[in-house]
Amino acid sequence: MSAHWDKHSTWEEAEKSWDKRSGSLEQSHPIKQLVKIPKLPGIRPKTKKNLRLKALNYLAEYDEEKFFIKYFFSNPFKHGFNLIRSYLKPLPFTRDDDFFLYGLKNEAEFKDLLAKKDSLLVIGFSYCHKPFECPSQRFTQDCIHDLTNPVCGQCFIGKCVHSLPKKRVLPVFITTVHQIGEIIVKQVQKHPKLEITYIITACEMTLQMFGDWANMMQVRGLGIRLDGQICNTMKAFVASEHGIKPGMAVVLDDTKKRILNLIKFRREQNT
Ligand code: SF4
Repeated sequence: MSAHWDKHSTWEEAEKSWDKRSGSLEQSHPIKQLVKIPKLPGIRPKTKKNLRLKALNYLAEYDEEKFFIKYFFSNPFKHGFNLIRSYLKPLPFTRDDDFFLYGLKNEAEFKDLLAKKDSLLVIGFSYCHKPFECPSQRFTQDCIHDLTNPVCGQCFIGKCVHSLPKKRVLPVFITTVHQIGEIIVKQVQKHPKLEITYIITACEMTLQMFGDWANMMQVRGLGIRLDGQICNTMKAFVASEHGIKPGMAVVLDDTKKRILNLIKFRREQNT
């Protein structure tokens, strides 16, 4: 973390030098890019039907170590109440373009949370937007973000990781909803004095399906909608959760800028 950014005295300098290097690597070591962003609905109309029930079934069916069931029953009244309260709302989040806010009214409120000295930021990147040539492989929880690697030098995840502050930030490379859910629960349990918050990239369908669980845990944070070759049916979603993801999801350019602005803001709070 911070390796590239720490070599520069300002954010602007660090970003300029990252982008310049990334531009030359695009020429010398081109990697597969999504040439055209397909126009796909975030969730297919048939899939939307009973989506909350499908999410609950999915979570229970693949909860191999009964982690979520045990977590729910660690405080069934509170968790049940929070879950029902979330279900009563038409959607579990407030949407601002590609930003899906959980337990927060707007981006300004999220920034207040990022500014808190007693907060810990979990920043999770879905494997679906790792490059096909990723040296850590796509369906893994690893990311070497190697400054000398020409693929990492062109990767948005690499750029984010190299710009993150070191303190009270935990980068995570997400393969499944169970993995990221478990990490957040464990961070909440490990740091009772810190407010845990998150930035997580995922397809719209995933952001909608599992928002109720974030609300049940009362963990406030931000989901970032991925575009490109996304999963918008249950079949595609289940396959991708098992590593079958032939397509490439992307963070749109304007959304990349918004994410980097939030990282910059968080970085400034630590200095
Ligand atoms: S920065 Fe991480 S995700 Fe990106 S190509 Fe390198 S190892 Fe893969």
